Amino acid sequence: MINDKKITIAIDGFSSSGKSTMARELARRIGYVYVDSGAMYRAVTLYALRHGMISADGIIDSGRLVDLLPQIRITFSDPDSSTGVSHTLLNGEDVEKEIRGMDVSNHVSPVSAIPEVRHRLTAIQQELGENKGIVMDGRDIGTTVFPDAEMKVFVNASPEVRAERRYKELIEKGIKADYHDVLANIKQRDDTDMNRKESPLRKSEDAHVLDNDNMTRDEQMQWLLNLYSSISRQNGKD
Ligand code: C5P
Repeated sequence: MINDKKITIAIDGFSSSGKSTMARELARRIGYVYVDSGAMYRAVTLYALRHGMISADGIIDSGRLVDLLPQIRITFSDPDSSTGVSHTLLNGEDVEKEIRGMDVSNHVSPVSAIPEVRHRLTAIQQELGENKGIVMDGRDIGTTVFPDAEMKVFVNASPEVRAERRYKELIEKGIKADYHDVLANIKQRDDTDMNRKESPLRKSEDAHVLDNDNMTRDEQMQWLLNLYSSISRQNGKD
């Protein structure tokens, strides 16, 4: 039997590995709060783009961005009761669609590499998880944000499979995209995310690896629910 003692669930992995969809669905099934930490980095990037802090050749005015960080408020709308989807709000404005476009995708990794941006968003994420009962997905959730999370998952899939998924997702949302641009963007982000100095993307030693190249969504969900049940049971005995 699963006990009532809530835990913290950290789901990390590469871009477009399907972790957000999985994390959201898991949270909905077990009645936990879901937080998409990538959306927060995307919202900061959108703010920087809108305020002319990123030049055409991608140079970021990081000094100005850091100074203006206190003025950037990122919140989420209440989740839709049937889909569990909530929208990202930047200073109260719904920017969910805009933060998923290629312009933000192309600049988000260097923005995420700025230490002050990471410190600020990490603090907000830790606050959101204070009472446990949360599923958060990202790149450094199991390593930096919630190093003591009871359940850590690292999701892996090949760049080509991830690009294919991302491409379909963008087209379905009515966002223009080219498969080769999407693949190049994914490889570029993998590289920047893994090689940055501040909390690089890496598997936490105690994370369970979910290699989902050849798994259906249902199989992935079953895998997660099984893991959740066994960790929850274990946690109840402590
Ligand atoms: O998850 P998503 O692909 O939307 O994340 C967008 C970008 O935000 C990532 O490529 C990464 O650069 C950054 N990110 C991060 N740390 C997180 C979540 C996202 O650096 N916890």
